[in-house]
Amino acid sequence: MSTIAAISTAPGNGGIGIIRMSGKECFSILEKIFIPKQKQNIEEISGYTMKYGWIVHPKTKEVIDEVLVSFFKSPKSYTTEDMCEINSHGGMVVEEQILEQCLLAGAELAEPGEFTKRAFLNGRIDLSQAEGIIDLINAKTKQEAKASLNQLQGMLSQRIQGIRKQLLSMMADIEASIDYPEYDEVPEITNQKMTEELEKIEEELIKLEKSFDSGKILKEGIKTVIIGKPNAGKSSLLNAILKEERAIVSRIEGTTRDTIEEMVHLKGIPLKLIDTAGIRNTKDEIEKIGVEKAIQLSENADLVIAIFDNTKPLEEEDKRILEMIENKKAIILLNKIDEKDIHLENTDEMQQIHKPIIKISAKTQEGLEQLYEQILSLFQLNEIELDSGDVITNIRHKNQIRKAIDDLENAKQAIKENMPVDIIAVAIKQSLEDLSSITGENVSEDIIQEIFSKFCLGK
Ligand code: GDP
Repeated sequence: MSTIAAISTAPGNGGIGIIRMSGKECFSILEKIFIPKQKQNIEEISGYTMKYGWIVHPKTKEVIDEVLVSFFKSPKSYTTEDMCEINSHGGMVVEEQILEQCLLAGAELAEPGEFTKRAFLNGRIDLSQAEGIIDLINAKTKQEAKASLNQLQGMLSQRIQGIRKQLLSMMADIEASIDYPEYDEVPEITNQKMTEELEKIEEELIKLEKSFDSGKILKEGIKTVIIGKPNAGKSSLLNAILKEERAIVSRIEGTTRDTIEEMVHLKGIPLKLIDTAGIRNTKDEIEKIGVEKAIQLSENADLVIAIFDNTKPLEEEDKRILEMIENKKAIILLNKIDEKDIHLENTDEMQQIHKPIIKISAKTQEGLEQLYEQILSLFQLNEIELDSGDVITNIRHKNQIRKAIDDLENAKQAIKENMPVDIIAVAIKQSLEDLSSITGENVSEDIIQEIFSKFCLGK
């Protein structure tokens, strides 16, 4: 394989820039363009060390930048090949010039994701781990980052391997009974036992498949609209939520041009608040939205949080809101209980719509905990999943798992219909193949190409 080079830091000016090289010729190329301050033969520099010096033109020896170079010796590197990372000053021009010297001295420009692709092709990581890396880089929520990190550390691979092992051991039994039906020593695998084992495996796969839904929430956040008439306490609630999270708010473009969505975390649950433009300056903005607009926005929301002033009787606008949330995933908050409690929960209007009602005080933050619990239960999220990131977030993995489940269903059906055992074996084999493509054991070059093309340059 050739020796590749790329700028690994994001384009733009920054404190430092990193230019990476990987391949057999890495150090001989570096020899031509790097002059360490303390003269030393580059091939002799040991792995996991860093050297100070200058990058120069390979022929003219003109100095390009003052740098620190880290050394990684095969196989202990990201790609398992000899590698170096040149830490330069973080200017676009400097970085590009350094890359140019690498190319002049014999390196080839890396394709997007090529470093990670090599890590995969060289067997250091499997495909699902590589996908974990890209998902970690692209993660938009803390939980997604955590789930991706687990995946890159091999959580999913291990679970899939565990399931494959069970299937393989079944296959071994089945094949033995096909090959040596007359031998008594071969324990007979009964239909009932096979069905039981298949069901057990299927259950595990279904659990993984379902975790995708939680994973999706982690990935995208729960699209949430907070609705309430003026002075019900919407902005106070927002502020209370933000306080929980010490106001870490990231702004993302809304799906339509005139809305803005902001990701906030309520005790770790990512809520994507819709159209709360200028969340730090909530009062005006929320007021601007108004009940009517909020009702419109609620149409596409995953969750509506309807907030009512519990110190005053319900008004027309409140009743409109209650009607609107009737067919939605919604939570009712009765606010300002620190001031007064007129038990709005006992009104006919509230009782009729069967939505969870929580009494809160946005002012003292009482009740926020229950709101959190309620969201968890509404979305069937479990705290352990959220915390551990033990979920799948990648649609390719979900699809493969679904295929494997369908194959196992076919196998079970074949058993039920007393089909010959080879037919059952074929279905089980198919499910094994579907599962191995998650870790990349039998995927086509096209799929590999597609996965790595989504990576950024230099990764
Ligand atoms: P919005 O118009 O729905 O955004 O409502 P605000 O959050 O601006 O609140 C309206 C008024 O109610 C403000 O004067 C708040 O201080 C007050 N308020 C909001 N939440 C509470 C609460 O939990 N307790 C009390 N006592 N007052 C509150």
